[in-house]
Amino acid sequence: VWEGRWRVIPHDVLPDWLKDNDFLLHGHRPPMPSFRACFRSIFRIHTETGNIWTHLLGEGRGRGSRGSRVGCVPRAEEPCRGLSGIIPTLHYVISEGFLKAATIGQIGWLMLMASLYITGAALYAARIPERFFPGKCDIWFHSHQLFHIFVVAGAFVHFHGVSNLQEFRFMVGGGCSEEDAL
Ligand SMILES: [Zn+2]
Repeated sequence: VWEGRWRVIPHDVLPDWLKDNDFLLHGHRPPMPSFRACFRSIFRIHTETGNIWTHLLGEGRGRGSRGSRVGCVPRAEEPCRGLSGIIPTLHYVISEGFLKAATIGQIGWLMLMASLYITGAALYAARIPERFFPGKCDIWFHSHQLFHIFVVAGAFVHFHGVSNLQEFRFMVGGGCSEEDAL
């Protein structure tokens, strides 16, 4: 049997370990027999297609190499990503003072970023919108995809805020040491 031959399957015949979202009724990818088959599956249309590509879109922006997970691995660690910009922001606010942070520190951008991450994570956690339209968001626009899109948008906002900040620091003659970087 050629390992590339498979069809999408409905939710109720998925093995338990792949039952992640009860509101996506059809179009699921069955367990993949090999990494090769899994890799090829990213070019097929199923419930993970949008997740995979929006995920790669985010990674492609150049956020280090955490290794591309193409939707074959559980993804419990994802919501933690949203916190990655918040800790340095708090650190900056505390060490530089809130007023300075608000005016020159581009904290508005960072707040926007945080709210994008939080909104995306909340949609994902609550399974919105597929919860309200079971079976209608199987392939496109389910919460996991929206979450990725919010994360990517948040990352752009973060990048913008940080570039403004670095520009300012450069102007006032402060160094751009790694340790100082937000
Ligand atoms: Zn994901």
